[in-house]
Amino acid sequence: MSDCIFCKIVDGSIPSTKIYEDDHVYAFMDVAPLTKGHTLLVPKQHVKDLFEMPEEVARNLYAAAPKIANAIKSAFNPQGMNTINNNGSFAGQTVFHYHLHFIPRYDETDGLKVKWETKQSEFTQEVLKSFGEQIREKLNL
Ligand code: 5GP
Ligand code: ZN
Repeated sequence: MSDCIFCKIVDGSIPSTKIYEDDHVYAFMDVAPLTKGHTLLVPKQHVKDLFEMPEEVARNLYAAAPKIANAIKSAFNPQGMNTINNNGSFAGQTVFHYHLHFIPRYDETDGLKVKWETKQSEFTQEVLKSFGEQIREKLNL
């Protein structure tokens, strides 16, 4: 897509610090990292978000993910790593070409908050069963 910043990174018209590339995916350093080693993995094909991702693109993308995670782990020996993908602006997506963040974690003060307050008391087993049915109805199983 001509006006997509990540398509331009993939085709080399915008510079990036490349980590990995194969026929289907491209991984590069996030220009505004949260922690040392923060990396983005994108499909070479322009796909807006997870909702629009063809299965084959997902297969190829995730096939590369362990390689990248392990390379970052070997390089910097973090305590852990979050892999995060934001879909839609409400969820924090700012670049509308799918990307998976690899964020190595070194300490609790790095500013990433992934803990949430559970609302378990609002969701009884009956309610969860009904939610499950509603979602299953939408899958072509
Ligand atoms: P989002 O908020 O959409 O999940 O994440 C977009 C990410 O892309 C941000 O972390 C941002 O720093 C990164 N980013 C945006 N523009 C560029 C760029 O031109 N080059 C690189 N390397 N990263 C970018
Ligand atoms: Zn794109």
